[in-house]
Amino acid sequence: MMNEGLLSFCEKLPKVELHAHLNGSISDETLLELSQASGLPEEELVELHNIVKNMKCRSLKECFKIFDIIHKVTVKPSIIRRAAMDVIKDFANDGVVYLELRSTPRRVEGSMTKKEYINAVIDSIRESRNIHPIIVKLIISIDRKAGVLEAEENLQLAIEAKEIHPDIVVGVDFSGNPAIGAFDGFIPVLEKAHKSGFPLALHCAEVPSVEETENILNLKPERLGHGTCFHPDAGGTQELWNALISAKIPVELCLTSNVMTATVKDYKNHHFDYLYKHGHPIVLGTDDKGVFSTSLSAEYCIAAKTFELNNDQLWQLSYDSINYAFASDYEKEKLREIFKEWKQKLLNTA
Ligand code: 5GP
Repeated sequence: MMNEGLLSFCEKLPKVELHAHLNGSISDETLLELSQASGLPEEELVELHNIVKNMKCRSLKECFKIFDIIHKVTVKPSIIRRAAMDVIKDFANDGVVYLELRSTPRRVEGSMTKKEYINAVIDSIRESRNIHPIIVKLIISIDRKAGVLEAEENLQLAIEAKEIHPDIVVGVDFSGNPAIGAFDGFIPVLEKAHKSGFPLALHCAEVPSVEETENILNLKPERLGHGTCFHPDAGGTQELWNALISAKIPVELCLTSNVMTATVKDYKNHHFDYLYKHGHPIVLGTDDKGVFSTSLSAEYCIAAKTFELNNDQLWQLSYDSINYAFASDYEKEKLREIFKEWKQKLLNTA
């Protein structure tokens, strides 16, 4: 059971979401609505509805099966636009004031090119500016399962989109099933992304893999996703852990995602604890709020209850997240003002 006062504080707290995959963030309601428009045959629609009703990942493998099902629904630009609009609205309603959505450009034979996919997301981001008090950016994802050629193509599309929309397209992500595909082949693509001016947010050490983790650290990414298996207690090594701590690379931590996919045992054993105690830069994220039935407020609440954080510490955790955003200095300053004003108002009413 959530403590009502704590949940209400976490909902009102201005928050920064830096780790949210678009397709995994679509709520059940939106997904079911969109499935009607997807043109799925009747039997597949019924199957999808059953899966959505019982959606629960118990492993990373199951989680990736669910993404495949969601991708059967998000098959044309109008659906992508609507999905992105709803996801942005959900985050804004949850008190998120700055959101970096990440997504893998997808081509669907006969109904959508990758460029149309990207443009649909960008259109929604622009439109949402007039509706919600939230800054939204786009990070272009590279799916390791799709291979190096697709990665090169996605990077090229990201470069072109950034030229036209430099205020929206802000980074490159590396994600997808960590059990598939050797990392080495992607190194030149990610180096090129860096040279092209993109900060990198790379999924890293979701499963134990010392060599891959070292290779990722060598790229000096701006942020790491999950970072589950650095510590020797979690399948990593002392050397890896020391390297992470001394590199001070901010880690995006997704508590519920890691517990639901069983990459960590339970909340208490989440590496949030080690990193927070070391004063390492961290930011809480939802990962896939639709698939994991969570929200950023819920994640703050869970962190507070599990690691005994008080309201001041929660505010500070959220405030410090601004430092790691791929936003402009001007936008970061504006965000800091919003946070300070919110805190001042709270003190005035106490
Ligand atoms: P999309 O990129 O289609 O908008 O969002 C879903 C995709 O994000 C998935 O197919 C997968 O490639 C990636 N993704 C979502 N959650 C995770 C995660 O926890 N770990 C990894 N490695 N990739 C993820």
